Amino acid sequence: MKALVFYGAGEKAWEDKPTPILDKSTDAIVHIKHTTICGTDLHIMRGSVPTAHKGVTLGHEGVGIVEELGNNVTNFKIGDKVLISCITSCGKCLNCRKGFYGHCSDGGWILGNTINGCQAERVRIPHADGSLYHVPDHADEQGFVMLSDILSTGLEVGVLDGKVRPGCSVAIVGAGPVGLAALITAQFYAPAQLITIDVDPNRLEISRSLGATHAVNNQDNTAVEQVMNLTEGQGVDVVIEAIGTPAGWDLSEAMVAAGGNLAVLGVHGKSVTLHLEHMWKRNFTMTAGLVHTTTIPMLMKTIISGRLQPRKLISHYMKMSEIIEGYNIFANAAKHCALKVLMTNDL
Ligand SMILES: [Zn+2]
Ligand SMILES: [Zn+2]
Repeated sequence: MKALVFYGAGEKAWEDKPTPILDKSTDAIVHIKHTTICGTDLHIMRGSVPTAHKGVTLGHEGVGIVEELGNNVTNFKIGDKVLISCITSCGKCLNCRKGFYGHCSDGGWILGNTINGCQAERVRIPHADGSLYHVPDHADEQGFVMLSDILSTGLEVGVLDGKVRPGCSVAIVGAGPVGLAALITAQFYAPAQLITIDVDPNRLEISRSLGATHAVNNQDNTAVEQVMNLTEGQGVDVVIEAIGTPAGWDLSEAMVAAGGNLAVLGVHGKSVTLHLEHMWKRNFTMTAGLVHTTTIPMLMKTIISGRLQPRKLISHYMKMSEIIEGYNIFANAAKHCALKVLMTNDL
């Protein structure tokens, strides 16, 4: 079968690889129907995710069909259409029992990182019972791919950890797909101000159409000043950092209000400076971490009811065999007006 294989910083290939086989009785083999590229894959391609080793198949998002099952998988049968969670969870270890699936002692974020992932014709999913979800027949299976990671991450790590609440002000630093997923899901909680910050006019325009009350262009490095003007000099109650760079951190830190929350969504490959000489008196709370994907079932219901429209996050549709071009488009998002690039396998 074909797979997108990582060969170290800047090196990848779409090439033949052995078809995955069942390894444990709790595994499933899923024939991938749709997958997508994540900002995290770009971080891996830059060499800033040390756990991703050379030779691994990338990708941690997708919808597919169950093709083989280990004897101890009980929730699924062959032929079921399934959503793959970016987080693998055994459901039994201490962290899983706390609902911290992201830190499962035999899982967590391993797909397309420490084990072969979803940008392939087939993928082996460990702990299938805890790591797959049924996709209803009538559901929009392409839109559902947005649930594997970005919608649940935007909601859990951005909106819920950041404690977005009615009437509050929110700034989302970085209007890429996961920032926009936070923007969409923040609206479940009716904040008064929803400010997006980016340097790409296309993404800012899209953020307005998705519900941003203000879109701040930081081309001239005046984002902090502009946000202060929008908040009577107070800063915002909730800052969601969705870039994953020291510059993204610096902006976020500078605009969080006294008593506010700063939720880090970005994947950081470099250290940042916490300016404690200013921040010690700010009474702010910072959160950062992995998604647990516990909100996937709830998000599925909101998609099926039409309240949430995940296709608004997809800008490009391609064949899986065009994935190298898909990476070029996603990595040069401003040039191509790209959000998520969805790739489909012919089944
Ligand atoms: Zn991802
Ligand atoms: Zn576990």
